[in-house]
Amino acid sequence: MNVQEALYAICTTGKGRCWYCDARLPGGDEAIRAGWDVQRLDDHPVPSIILVCPTCLRLKTELGEVEFLRTLPHRLSGVPC
Ligand SMILES: [Zn+2]
Repeated sequence: MNVQEALYAICTTGKGRCWYCDARLPGGDEAIRAGWDVQRLDDHPVPSIILVCPTCLRLKTELGEVEFLRTLPHRLSGVPC
């Protein structure tokens, strides 16, 4: 899958948010420059395409997926982890 094409397609719907932290997707070029990513959730009950913001992308890489998901609710509620 071409990430840029997918991002553009999602941007044109005007309804893009980070799957993890709910950050709003900026418009097309800006999203790509900022480093937004499009990923496939294959192990989801319904295989789907998700958007991931640059912040979550970096944290997910740094922490690993399990730790990232474990600490996510804390970050969303503003509680330091
Ligand atoms: Zn995010």
